[in-house]
Amino acid sequence: MSITQEHVRCLIIGSGPAGYTAAIYAGRSNISPVLYEGIQPGGQLTMTTAIENFPGYPDGISGYDMMEDLRKQASKFGCDIRQGVATSSDLSKAPYHIIIDAEKDIYCDTLIISTGATAKYLGLPDEYNYAGQGVSACAICDGFFYRKKIVAVVGGGDTACEDSIYLAGLALQVYLIVRKNHLRASDIMQKRLLKTPNITILFEQEVTGLFGENGVEGAHLVKHRGQSDEKNYDLSIDGLFLAIGHKPNSDVFAKYLDLDETGYILTEPGTPRTKIPGVFAAGDVADPHYRQAITAAGSGCKAAIEAGDYLSSHNL
Ligand code: NDP
Repeated sequence: MSITQEHVRCLIIGSGPAGYTAAIYAGRSNISPVLYEGIQPGGQLTMTTAIENFPGYPDGISGYDMMEDLRKQASKFGCDIRQGVATSSDLSKAPYHIIIDAEKDIYCDTLIISTGATAKYLGLPDEYNYAGQGVSACAICDGFFYRKKIVAVVGGGDTACEDSIYLAGLALQVYLIVRKNHLRASDIMQKRLLKTPNITILFEQEVTGLFGENGVEGAHLVKHRGQSDEKNYDLSIDGLFLAIGHKPNSDVFAKYLDLDETGYILTEPGTPRTKIPGVFAAGDVADPHYRQAITAAGSGCKAAIEAGDYLSSHNL
């Protein structure tokens, strides 16, 4: 296998709103950015339908179209957009060394990490056994397949409530399976959930497995796990949706950067600066709290400005 090497001034990893916004700003400031798209070109937003809360789109825009527009805009301003995934890194000294697809060596003066976050699964073997056959972590992507069917959503946060409400508009019945005796979701979301007639909340219950011949036909549940009245039973469902949070995609850089307990990259408050000069983190990979397209785009902008400042102050 041929090994190739290259030196770039500004390397951007990831192609969600943070990565593309960084690319637009970096391109316009003439620092010749190179962007690798990562595993999911366009990022998580390509899996949603309409985005209604991004300023400037009074009628909403599809996630796919928005990411296509951002990609074109980044390309127009000179960003070199490439397919490929960062598989390892050495950030111990500048220029920083990133390996793409385990075969291409890139050395960069500045690095913008905008690798996003990935939906979490429970870790049950059945989730993998039934992947694509009734298990999903994206209600908006897959809800359509469950029209007039019975589905369950796992989780107790805003995502689980939002997904349940969305699915209730398609499915006959939605069960929301919550491991605690209360929801973590915001009040407004809980109110909306409680107003939706075809959603039933199953508190203090957990999924332990799935069953079905050709796809999911039901879930094994445990109620009051570990208590004197623990009860195991089966619930008939056609689909299971996971909404239990996200894992930031920071593993490749974890050895060199400070992370929080979940793996989100820690940056200097209010900035995308990591503890390594010239290395910046933008978007969901560094944001456990807001995780919005607009906040990701904003932090991508900041990262590109920081990269430009770093290059000029180091005469690079
Ligand atoms: P959260 O981390 O807020 O919630 C995750 C939920 O999943 C919790 O109820 C948690 O339970 C549960 N959970 C985690 N692991 C397991 C497990 N192994 N088994 C069963 N349940 C589990 O994630 P969200 O994705 O809901 O939200 C992330 C952020 O995005 C939040 O800040 C949220 O407010 C925001 N958001 C806002 C929206 C909006 O305003 N429209 C929409 C969606 C998200 P437990 O409570 O027991 O820990």
